[in-house]
Amino acid sequence: MKQIQNLPVSCLMSYREIEEQHPVLMVTSAAAWKAVEARLHGLKIATKLEVSTATTEHWDTLLSSAARSNAEVVYAVGGGLAADAGKYLAAELNLPLTVLPTALSVDAFLTATSGVRCEGCVAYIETKVPEVVILDLEVIAAAPASIRAAGITDVMSIATGSWDWKFAHEHGQNLPGMEFIPWVYENAQTILDGVLDCAVAAGRGDREGLKTLYDCLAMEVQLCNQVGHARPEEGSEHYFAYCAENLVGPGWPHGDLVGPGIMLMAAMQGQATERYESALQACHIPLDRIPTAVTEETLAALPTYCRKHNLPFGIAHVL
Ligand SMILES: [Zn+2]
Repeated sequence: MKQIQNLPVSCLMSYREIEEQHPVLMVTSAAAWKAVEARLHGLKIATKLEVSTATTEHWDTLLSSAARSNAEVVYAVGGGLAADAGKYLAAELNLPLTVLPTALSVDAFLTATSGVRCEGCVAYIETKVPEVVILDLEVIAAAPASIRAAGITDVMSIATGSWDWKFAHEHGQNLPGMEFIPWVYENAQTILDGVLDCAVAAGRGDREGLKTLYDCLAMEVQLCNQVGHARPEEGSEHYFAYCAENLVGPGWPHGDLVGPGIMLMAAMQGQATERYESALQACHIPLDRIPTAVTEETLAALPTYCRKHNLPFGIAHVL
């Protein structure tokens, strides 16, 4: 059976108004918990777990603690790591999942898979779509500026990812099941336009801007859900990020690696980059954090890296 994934039900409300009747397994990170703890009086927490890395080994350790809990529902509170671990635990425990993002830092709280670090690359394993995502825009607006709207990189990666998809089509390199679909490509471009237009407002923490960024993330995820793969949104900019992570070490925010990846790959693709740079800057994505030597080493390694990890064809294969 081929399943088309859906988006979680999304609620816009204050975390202070959440009333949860069932005992909760809380999956969070120290910083995120500190930011929202005082708002979560309506939750009866049976067990609280702190997630530190994106590996199944670590999550399986958490799973053994979780299995001893009497929790009936999982809550993931934080950014992408908490969401990915929460999806994994909820799927393994067969429990419903609610995600409370503390920043719009990635698209992970909307997808059906969890990204795990595996042999120097990122693999996406099927876990589950959260049943509910609750957005407290007041909390998200108050997040540190560099992560508040960093999820713009997961929408802006359409700029380079869908370019790669078309490029692969023109070179007969798209794998079966990932054939180029012009209307999907065009749809992705309009989502990209939407996110570029909201970058200033979202980066500033305006509620309207953050809501639009959320809409763009949701539309990008659902477009990929419909076609069953991520080629409209994931390409060489993500490959750059995955490869660079081996050199800079774990724990970097996703946007700090994908943002520079978008700029570098868009330039390699011959695209005008001014609009992309302005949007990334408006959302406080650091574009100069990766040392030059690391960038150069990553670019030199990318073609071999992409083949070694069987990444779908893009500009990074032929730099
Ligand atoms: Zn991403």
